[in-house]
Amino acid sequence: MKIYNTLTRKIEVFQPLNPPAVNFYSCGPTVYDFTHIGHMRTYVNNDILKRTLTYLGYKVKHVMNVTDVGHLSGDDDSGEDKMEKGAKKYGKTVWDVAKFYTDFFFKTTDALNILRPNITCKATEHIEEMIQLINRLKQKGFVYETKEAVYFDVSKFNNYGKLSGQKLEEKIQAVRENVNVDTQKKHPADFALWFKRVGRFANHTMHWNSPWGEGFPGWHIECSAMSMKYLGETIDIHSGGIDHIPVHHENEIAQSEGATGKQFVKIWFHNNFLTVDSQKMSKSLGNFYTIEDIEKNKINPVSLRLLFLQSHYRQPLNFTWQSARASQEAFDRLKEIALELKNSNSSTRKLVKLTNKSIDFQHQFIIALENDLQTPQAVAVMWDMLKSDINYDEKYFLLMDFDQVFGLKLDEVVEEKIPDEIIKLAKERVEYKQKKGFQKADEVRELIEKKGYKIEDTKDGYKIKKI
Ligand code: AMP
Ligand code: ZN
Repeated sequence: MKIYNTLTRKIEVFQPLNPPAVNFYSCGPTVYDFTHIGHMRTYVNNDILKRTLTYLGYKVKHVMNVTDVGHLSGDDDSGEDKMEKGAKKYGKTVWDVAKFYTDFFFKTTDALNILRPNITCKATEHIEEMIQLINRLKQKGFVYETKEAVYFDVSKFNNYGKLSGQKLEEKIQAVRENVNVDTQKKHPADFALWFKRVGRFANHTMHWNSPWGEGFPGWHIECSAMSMKYLGETIDIHSGGIDHIPVHHENEIAQSEGATGKQFVKIWFHNNFLTVDSQKMSKSLGNFYTIEDIEKNKINPVSLRLLFLQSHYRQPLNFTWQSARASQEAFDRLKEIALELKNSNSSTRKLVKLTNKSIDFQHQFIIALENDLQTPQAVAVMWDMLKSDINYDEKYFLLMDFDQVFGLKLDEVVEEKIPDEIIKLAKERVEYKQKKGFQKADEVRELIEKKGYKIEDTKDGYKIKKI
């Protein structure tokens, strides 16, 4: 398997530390508002990576955090805690906000058939681990304290900027007006490990005791602390969206490697954005759609997987309703084919022996995925395979085999039960036609369509399908 590594800027041969074990950490959601399908592009691609590795025989241990404290609205430690902001906006407690949006997040990932991580860990349940890690950094001389916070001093970490390739000097942002940042902070790129419950945070709802007084952790430290706790000091793969590269992941590296002196992550796997009119789909721009919008537009959430699979994870993907509907149609077609193949079940199904042509399709599929997850190519192999002249048993076998990675739930397709009322109307229509009452027959057809079904005339009679 080859994967692009943001750290080396190269496509590398993937060599986990202890094969077949793979330790995989994903940055999870900040649960202060509705998750949207932009986030889902990143989580679907993480899921495809995980399923691919499993398909190839690796044993993946996947950990994802849930950020429920400490993520401020500004990347430079300015602004408000997003959780507190969410609580104010919705008139609820921060704890209720966290619970509600965490549930909404998992409702969404389940609807997209994204496999749940082996371990999901909340920041608020790992305060002790974060304090210990800050202490470790303090002992090694990486931190300084101000009246407002405890900071990581980036000038003490030699390789700061190695992930994004940015030099420290480039990180010096122009001083922005009206932005509330700690004046005692030494360098703009220094970042908070712990915020004290003073000054602008005097009324912060979530707070814990620490060697630096009451307060709450900064955002970045949670990922280092939880990743180390559950996966060890060096992990195989760490994922997130490309927006995390310059600050969040750079900071995770500084904290983790500063504390342990070891390489933190072997492969950094970053997903490009889902965009709308070429702009990142985001809460702040208000150009986002949630799973509820998707369902309201009669798009099956699972069909979004097909949409995402059709573009490579390192390229931006522009979302339009037209493309979503096209994927939905392709998905419906795929389900029909899966059902047809399933119903053609022959007695040899379980013992299906692949011919050379089928083996070749399987190879092409693996080659595409092993080449930095070329999912568009893998999907094309699937369609070629379905259009080919290999027999139905082999097609069904390969389709189910490929779907272990695609996760389109094609093994669950079942014949839709047509309601008795529709069957009765369809029979009435045939009777009208036989009596040459064509106008009446058309009226019945329209009525059937209004009720969500359509009649397709075939050479042996007709077929009823759900619209
Ligand atoms: P957040 O809750 O903002 O930390 O985002 C959760 C994950 O979704 C992060 O890995 C982000 O990089 C990613 N993400 C946010 N917006 C998008 C988008 N429009 N397209 C793809 N990934 C995104
Ligand atoms: Zn993170």
